[in-house]
Amino acid sequence: MVDIRSVHKSFGPLDVLKGIDLQVRTGEVTVVLGPSGSGKSTLLRTINHLEKVDRGAISVDGALIGYRRSGDKLHELPEREVLKQRIRIGFVFQNFNLFPHLTVLENVIEAPVAALKRPRDQAVATARRLLERVGLADKADAYPRQLSGGQQQRVAIARALALEPKLLLFDEPTSALDPELVGEVLDVIKDLAHQGTTMIVVTHEIGFAREVADTVVFMDDGRIVEQGPPAEVLDRPRHERTRTFLSKVL
Ligand code: ATP
Ligand code: MG
Repeated sequence: MVDIRSVHKSFGPLDVLKGIDLQVRTGEVTVVLGPSGSGKSTLLRTINHLEKVDRGAISVDGALIGYRRSGDKLHELPEREVLKQRIRIGFVFQNFNLFPHLTVLENVIEAPVAALKRPRDQAVATARRLLERVGLADKADAYPRQLSGGQQQRVAIARALALEPKLLLFDEPTSALDPELVGEVLDVIKDLAHQGTTMIVVTHEIGFAREVADTVVFMDDGRIVEQGPPAEVLDRPRHERTRTFLSKVL
């Protein structure tokens, strides 16, 4: 489903991704761990072309992201085409990013109506079903400021699902939440995992990784240091750097 090959990315003199290779199969959950500044968010952002790669290539579901290949040359896709690709890759951020002036229901139907041109009543029906799925059917008419952080994040997840993504990316979805609200958001993500949603989740929740991940990836300084099943990477890490990191977050 996701094929990341030899991806390099710099910001000016700063090399942030130094050759990333990662494959994610359909229906699998990949959890990405690593210290602050190791390039986790940048990696997620290259997958939906919010950042352009300097070298290497990323494809999602067989489609090269951001580029068209002709012969052995790559041509950048026009913005309109990039938006079409991006819309099928859901992205859930640390800080929810809901529209504050729209109700919960309006937040969830906004993109399907505006970008996918779905009829409004159909989008509303889908949104209500999704809000039910994340346990917020009764909050459809509330505004984001009237919700707890955990509830806002669950709305953000429903909003991402409304675009019927092939792939969901989560960037520290629980790190802005009070500890007692983390569980309710992780439960929703676990549910999605059990239903076979393909996801890449950046998180420091090791318990979640152990329970849900098919693959755990440990990044440090722009590189993947090791990757494998949770029982290997979390319980029998091969690299000293991974051990040191885990001893700090566990
Ligand atoms: P954290 O755990 O703190 O979220 P991270 O692993 O997600 O860290 P990134 O956000 O990917 O790390 O950042 C990696 C490095 O790239 C950092 O040194 C950061 O300052 C730098 N960086 C990220 N985005 C930009 C940008 N747009 N311009 C310049 N430098 C950037
Ligand atoms: Mg980050």
